[in-house]
Amino acid sequence: MTAKIIDGNAVARHVRGEWKKRVDALRTRGIIPGLAVIIVGSNPASRVYVRNKVKACAEVGLHSETHEFPADVDEGTVIRRIDELNRNPEIHGILVQLPLPPQIEARHLLGAISIEKDVDGFHLYNVGGLVVGENNIFPPCTPYGVQCLLEYENIPIEGQNVVVVGASNIVGKPMALMLMAKDATVSICHIKTRDLAQYTILADILIVAAGCPGLITAPMIKRGAVVIDVGINRLPDGRLVGDVDFEGVKKKAAYITPVPGGVGPMTVTMLICNTVAAAERCAAKNAEKNPVPA
Ligand code: NAP
Repeated sequence: MTAKIIDGNAVARHVRGEWKKRVDALRTRGIIPGLAVIIVGSNPASRVYVRNKVKACAEVGLHSETHEFPADVDEGTVIRRIDELNRNPEIHGILVQLPLPPQIEARHLLGAISIEKDVDGFHLYNVGGLVVGENNIFPPCTPYGVQCLLEYENIPIEGQNVVVVGASNIVGKPMALMLMAKDATVSICHIKTRDLAQYTILADILIVAAGCPGLITAPMIKRGAVVIDVGINRLPDGRLVGDVDFEGVKKKAAYITPVPGGVGPMTVTMLICNTVAAAERCAAKNAEKNPVPA
């Protein structure tokens, strides 16, 4: 058996094409979805991620702007900027690029973002919405992208054994909640999990987001499993790899995502989707407040 390699770039292109139609529909009403990205300091990886987000927004016709602060900025200054952006009608989504320097508490900045503009889905309101299965929230972009890949490939989720390796707030935990909401039976593994393989071997769908190259090898997976590799690791020789031994596992899995070219392109795509959805919700609210006279 050789797994079907899920082409994240192709799925991302398709999804962006679909959402571009919604951007065009908003444009006919004079609305251009706008995203503001806040970046503090000069972390090189963060700069690359922000550049990619800005480029992707432009391709789909979104307005985007980057708000840069020096690494030693105080928290109050950034929160004041977030307040301004919350009030700016041309901005529908606000994103704080993580990580932040130590003098700034991420939760303070994330908590300052208006819940209607929290397109990264990290505000506690959106996190709580995921827990209780609220529909009108913004799902965090990486797990939302994984869910979209599974749906695009028509991979059933209901009743499946899903194992998520990694329990971070931005990937592992929301991923588990989103698939639980789709009626999967979900286990979450983390660094203290004893004998990881005893869990992974049971997975119909295995999602790995640990940041450990080579963590998952072929003997650890069930034959015919769906393996989604969220990890992105730079090896000393410069190569970019995931957390899964791709060459070994692809001989045993039914589906596998490559790194790069799997989950990565979907993360940026879902940010666009959330920003467009935010602009649509804002437009609907404004139309309710100011109905067109008959
Ligand atoms: P993180 O905050 O460092 O969390 C990693 C999680 O994995 C933690 O829960 C940790 O356990 C667990 N873990 C670490 N080593 C493990 C091991 N040997 N066995 C089992 N669990 C282990 O990282 P993250 O932000 O979730 O990101 C995870 C990976 O995904 C990284 O490689 C990151 O670059 C990548 N990523 C990719 C995208 C994308 O768009 N493709 C987006 C976001 C992140 P503890 O909680 O117990 O420490």
